[in-house]
Amino acid sequence: PSMARGAAVEFDPISWDDIGGLEGVKCKLKQAVEWPLRHADAFQRLRLKPPCGVLLHGPPGCSKTTLVRAAATASGATFISLSGAQLYSMYVGEGEALLRETFRRARLTSPSILFFDELDSLVGKRVEGEQTGESTARILSSFLTEMDGLELAQGVLVMGATNRPHALDAALVRPGRFDVVLYVPPPDKEGRLQALQIHTRSIPLAPEVDLRAIAAATERYTGAELAAVCREAAMTALREDAASAAEVRQAHFEAALAGIKPQLAPADL
Ligand code: ATP
Repeated sequence: PSMARGAAVEFDPISWDDIGGLEGVKCKLKQAVEWPLRHADAFQRLRLKPPCGVLLHGPPGCSKTTLVRAAATASGATFISLSGAQLYSMYVGEGEALLRETFRRARLTSPSILFFDELDSLVGKRVEGEQTGESTARILSSFLTEMDGLELAQGVLVMGATNRPHALDAALVRPGRFDVVLYVPPPDKEGRLQALQIHTRSIPLAPEVDLRAIAAATERYTGAELAAVCREAAMTALREDAASAAEVRQAHFEAALAGIKPQLAPADL
């Protein structure tokens, strides 16, 4: 019964082209995720050891989760995801049972990707005053046991995402665990332009709209914030003239930008 509340197998296909910029990260993910799952026999022939775990870290809203979904789509693997918060909302002992059951399911449905969002809240370091240290320690130790057990099983890749890599227990990045660690930065100017193009794909734009200028003026905006800007620009057009607005103009984007400010500080870059 706890399975129903916990891990979800979902498949919402995402293409690499739905994510702007981040060429370097995408390339490394293809090698670490797509190749071992798609070319398992070649890896075996060449005695190449595929990675056991891939950890993505970086500020919120910069597409860590979306990258994992794109990697799952491209590799054709079963996608199973579990968030740290889900495990802790359970009674003592239930969280570990769910964790074991989720790993078991990943082995049964391999090739599979087992994704842990908010990994820090699942297996964070013990923080004074937060949670009961005991359940944190027990969940971390079950997690490590399960991950080490995977070495024998083929075709299960564990992926994790976190905004707070320093909050993770050091045991997680030992060899055989999260052996590929990738930083997902906020988008640069070219990445922002691509993100704006992606999020205006289905919005009718007036010919004067200059996405390149908007990309140049949105330093420190995350992909999620740029998506919000595009939505807000269209809403502004609608508010202005709900009866007949048929396109979104540059002025609507400017109004949206005035209302949506980047949450990242210069020091976060
Ligand atoms: P969090 O840490 O808050 O979970 P995250 O890094 O996992 O954030 P996502 O949830 O993948 O970020 O991204 C949020 C939304 O922002 C996505 O649904 C997507 O629409 C948009 N987005 C983020 N980065 C980009 C990008 N580079 N190109 C296009 N869209 C992006």
